[in-house]
Amino acid sequence: MASDTHRYDPEGRDDRPLLMILGTQGWIPTPRRATTCLAYRDGATLLVLDAGTGLGRFLRPPAASLLDGVDEVHLLLTHYHLDHTVGLSYLSGVFPRLRVTVHVPEAAVNGVEPPDGVPSLIRPPFFPEAWASQKRVSLSTVCAGENDIAGLRVMVRAQSHADVSVAYRVVDHFVLATDTVYDEATAAFAAGAEVLIHEAWIDGKEEGEPGWEDMVRHAYASHTSARQAAQLAARAGVEELLLVHLNPLFDEDYYAEQGRSARALFPRTTVPDDLHVRELARY
Ligand SMILES: [Zn+2]
Ligand SMILES: [Zn+2]
Repeated sequence: MASDTHRYDPEGRDDRPLLMILGTQGWIPTPRRATTCLAYRDGATLLVLDAGTGLGRFLRPPAASLLDGVDEVHLLLTHYHLDHTVGLSYLSGVFPRLRVTVHVPEAAVNGVEPPDGVPSLIRPPFFPEAWASQKRVSLSTVCAGENDIAGLRVMVRAQSHADVSVAYRVVDHFVLATDTVYDEATAAFAAGAEVLIHEAWIDGKEEGEPGWEDMVRHAYASHTSARQAAQLAARAGVEELLLVHLNPLFDEDYYAEQGRSARALFPRTTVPDDLHVRELARY
């Protein structure tokens, strides 16, 4: 559906859960695309996954309407790389009246003690206030396997990346698997979910092409291609694949080509723009 025409209506008829992708770029934000952030709204529950520059989109419509009728935000981090965490410095601006609980993997999952993560980033001289002195903001941890967040079943699994990241599965609605090498186990993790939101750092067509060896090797050391993501989506049997965390060193023509490559393997693939909305089943 056209994301720019959608308005979330918490009162009314339009009460299906939905995803809004607030940032589709990896690493460096570009004029068209912010870095990783997505929102899931179901009733009065709002989950936000990752705090890239896309978090700033909550200041303006249409994302601002996702805050209507909400009094708490649950913000889940996949890992601490700055393109996923810079938005932690926006919290008091984008959510001035809401409680915010930031959920991070416990140290057993990623080797990072939680106090060495968010509180070490949000503090002087990087930010005017210490994490602990901010009002209405708190930190919580998730474990590998099953977690309960705001009454929702949220599954977590570790992924291999430059630093360990985690994939999240929110009930049977969606899986977010970003900042990860190609990982066959993602297919089982996503099996039966409606939507797989997967990173696609390169197309995959470059494999074996002379002159591209270094780029391909470097990409596959911590990332996934569009073709690989499509294979996972096909194996998982999801309804739709959304390709995100697009590589800012490439352009829109390349992303369109990534979409075509992925659709050859998994036809229900979309390369979303920022603010893309995907409605989900009510069950
Ligand atoms: Zn990233
Ligand atoms: Zn990363």
